[in-house]
Amino acid sequence: MDTALIHQPLSALTGLLAERRVSSVEMMAAFIARTKAVEPRLHAFNSFDEPAALAAARASDERRTLGRILGPLDGIPIGIKDAIAVAGAPLTCSSKMLANFVSPYDATVIERLRAGGAIPWGRLNLDEFAMGSSTENSANGVTLNPWDLTRVAGGSSGGSAAAVAASQAPAALGSDTGGSIRQPAAFCGLVGVKPTYGTVSRYGLAAFASSLDQIGPLTRNVDDAALLLGVIAGHDPRDSTSLARPAPDFPVEMVARRGPWKLGVPAEYFREGLDPAVAAAVRKAIDFYSAQGGEIREVSLPVAAEYAIAAYYIIATAECSSNLARYDGIRYGHRTQNATDAIDLYARSRAEGFGDEVKRRILLGTYVLSSGYYDAYYLRAQKLRTLIRQDYLRALDGLDALVTPTTPTPAFRPGEKTADPLSMYLADIFTVGVNLAGLPAVSLPCGFTAAGLPVGLQLIGRHFEEPRLFAVARSYEQAHAWHKMRPTVASSE
Ligand code: GLN
Repeated sequence: MDTALIHQPLSALTGLLAERRVSSVEMMAAFIARTKAVEPRLHAFNSFDEPAALAAARASDERRTLGRILGPLDGIPIGIKDAIAVAGAPLTCSSKMLANFVSPYDATVIERLRAGGAIPWGRLNLDEFAMGSSTENSANGVTLNPWDLTRVAGGSSGGSAAAVAASQAPAALGSDTGGSIRQPAAFCGLVGVKPTYGTVSRYGLAAFASSLDQIGPLTRNVDDAALLLGVIAGHDPRDSTSLARPAPDFPVEMVARRGPWKLGVPAEYFREGLDPAVAAAVRKAIDFYSAQGGEIREVSLPVAAEYAIAAYYIIATAECSSNLARYDGIRYGHRTQNATDAIDLYARSRAEGFGDEVKRRILLGTYVLSSGYYDAYYLRAQKLRTLIRQDYLRALDGLDALVTPTTPTPAFRPGEKTADPLSMYLADIFTVGVNLAGLPAVSLPCGFTAAGLPVGLQLIGRHFEEPRLFAVARSYEQAHAWHKMRPTVASSE
């Protein structure tokens, strides 16, 4: 196994392929071997299709020989969260409900990857239907953290993060409804991007909460994130919420923006509940920007800090209760063997197919939408959503970005929060408001705790300002080496 190869970022792999120092088949074989070696300890994958991956790699090598490569990622495997449709591959959403479902079509992001020659690689584990923060809600079991196998990799895109951190894939796609890309990226020492709502097509992403869901990259560094986002972003007529504006050339736009940066630090985010090691790492990153000549301003997010969790868990559950109605055993999903009549068939199929957290959210969502409670909960949450968006935009006025921790603590242990769902929800405090506001945000590695667990720094920008966020993130990354560190997950290392 070529261990040097599998630890490289996309930017290095593209060069190795271009210089013909490695073939796509050799590269794919190295990631397959690595996956098999560490998978029993990690469980990042729900499944993978080795022959299909190797066939795609062979086709890429043939294109290259003919001088007809399709794009910068031609021949490079990209890990895919098992909530994003890949034609002919299982699409389980880590749910019993879809245990036997095979997608008949490609999501738009997969079409775009393929159009650029990239190889969709593996079906990566997640919390069932992306509901959770630890992959403990997966019907297939938890994904462990490559940095510490007694900890979770985060969630819901925990498989995507673990696979990249453990070098089973050089980069991956996840989805982020309330933090599901940024939080696992933070827990696993990666760069994770939640794009501006509407930037990346949701066509072919199993819907959780449609007004919040966005697909985005998890990568080893900022350059890779800009590159991969550029491949998947852009208008898609099949997603009515896709923005009718061309995607910028992220890598080019990123380097065109230069510091020193004007950054806002939300006062409310540095109070009780913040792990001291996380606070220290984030403070140090802020000091770095200041030492570079940046202007650091204390800002306030009074509404977001107080109400984002409540508004998110009302709106997200409301939308999920509606989106998941399609899994009834008739149109989609598991069908019970023991139905007495039609109503019984719906009820039993859903009772058997969904796990506890999904059921809890469907119940909550149905309740907040029901007549008599709609005004008290759903409508008020929507009003709060507007105020939360105004909160961020006011705080961002005249600034390049807001700087916050991505998570209040480093990766926790399996079982630590499962008995108390509210404690799991509260840990989403720094990420969910960004989705409610539709804003872009990046999480990047900013240090380690004394126990060796990665810490994530979150940068939040105005709508469409991904290039600026990438530039701010990159200026930090270039002066630090956190992103170059690799966990030791394999005894062979
Ligand atoms: N942890 C959040 C939740 O459980 C976010 C999940 C997500 O972004 N998909 O809803």
